[in-house]
Amino acid sequence: MDFKIGNGYDVHALAPGLPMWLCGVQIPSDKGFVAHSDGDVAIHALCDAILGALALGDIGHLFPDTDPAWKGIDSKILLRKVVSLMTERGYRIGNADITIALQAPKLAPHILRMRETLAPILGVGTDCVSVKATTTEHLGFVGRGEGCSVQASVLLAAR
Ligand code: MG
Repeated sequence: MDFKIGNGYDVHALAPGLPMWLCGVQIPSDKGFVAHSDGDVAIHALCDAILGALALGDIGHLFPDTDPAWKGIDSKILLRKVVSLMTERGYRIGNADITIALQAPKLAPHILRMRETLAPILGVGTDCVSVKATTTEHLGFVGRGEGCSVQASVLLAAR
């Protein structure tokens, strides 16, 4: 099989006074993510998509939140570890597509920097990394500003 497809999903709660990291970029916001790591829910979903494609479990299994080694860790480090697992198994990223559901703040001004941050870690050009953002029209936990959910899809190709 020359290709593998994976999807990932993650949710983090929002709380006042915490940093908001999404796709490796810090977003100016009065709320941020409650988490053991830096809370980058978008990178977590992306990691799970890659791990899913390889049937390697999930990041909770790989980097347990009971392990102090991962406390407050920059999620880009976790992504690099996941990418090296992929490389060891003979695969490379074909493309990645990420959808972030967040009511506020607006993410449009940050999307390009997110793509430019992820692309070199994934070993692809920015044209192979899509980041999209949506609100949920004030519906549900995302719409009430209680949390953020992210879906990620990846295509892996044999190297
Ligand atoms: Mg997470």
